[in-house]
Amino acid sequence: MTGEMYTGPVEMVEVSPRDGLQNERQELSTEVKLALIDRALAAGVRRIEVTSFVNPRAVPQMADAEAVCAGLPERPDVTYIGLVMNLRGAERALATGRIDQLGAVAVATDRFAMANQGQTSDGSVEVAGAIIAAARAAGRSAQATIAASFGCPFEGEVAPARVIAMARALAAAGAVEVGLADTIGVANPAHVGRLVADVQAAIGPVPVRVHFHNTRGTGLANVWAAIGAGARIIDAAIGGLGGCPFAPGAAGNVSTEDVVYMLERAGITTCLDLDRLTEANHWLGSVMKRDLPGMVARAPRFPGQH
Ligand code: ZN
Repeated sequence: MTGEMYTGPVEMVEVSPRDGLQNERQELSTEVKLALIDRALAAGVRRIEVTSFVNPRAVPQMADAEAVCAGLPERPDVTYIGLVMNLRGAERALATGRIDQLGAVAVATDRFAMANQGQTSDGSVEVAGAIIAAARAAGRSAQATIAASFGCPFEGEVAPARVIAMARALAAAGAVEVGLADTIGVANPAHVGRLVADVQAAIGPVPVRVHFHNTRGTGLANVWAAIGAGARIIDAAIGGLGGCPFAPGAAGNVSTEDVVYMLERAGITTCLDLDRLTEANHWLGSVMKRDLPGMVARAPRFPGQH
């Protein structure tokens, strides 16, 4: 990095109600999910992935997607995101009338795409394109995330050229943003810096979002490298909850509190309130009857922290 450091804003996308909870053995009630969403909004979150519209037999934790949407507060200043894997899911999400933005998923490798969605990697890009078209036809927007951008649980290394080509195709299909997801938490900061810069160069002015799991402890370092390479949109989950039902050994998302602490202390504004996020972590931990993986919420409050 040369020149002046970026001071923000960085946009945080809260994914705890979906990615955070979908792999939890404990199924939380719709009421608890809505309370979590309320707490995230109170902490300043303005984009939030509220649920996914997937087969309830495959992901029973998300079976209440329509009920969650029905309970969302009317907030014109908030973008509610619904994750969908196919056109059936897109139809369900749009039918609620409460989802502002669809999140489509394409998968970087064939074997993971087969395990996750029962299709090839190319097939997943095609389906994502159809989802984006459906959202646009309904007057909504859609973004797309490339799962396993930094490594695949079955195939190992993923060629950057493959991810760049997919990002180009998704941006050309009308995605308002392309996410690079380290679904299984194998990325390292050097890889992240290169891939974010290359994808951003390939699809600009469409922005790159990044999505990291802290499975091997590199989550925060990867966030820092992504911002240094030009990413301005970061997925994170309160408490560092999360996993993927189809990714063996996947662990939690980077914790929203930990990312906000790191960035704000470094002079990069996120527009989120760390004390309220910490309180949300403690509340969620009490509901789930365990300490959550996020570290800042378990540490003493640093004097002057904001
Ligand atoms: Zn994830």
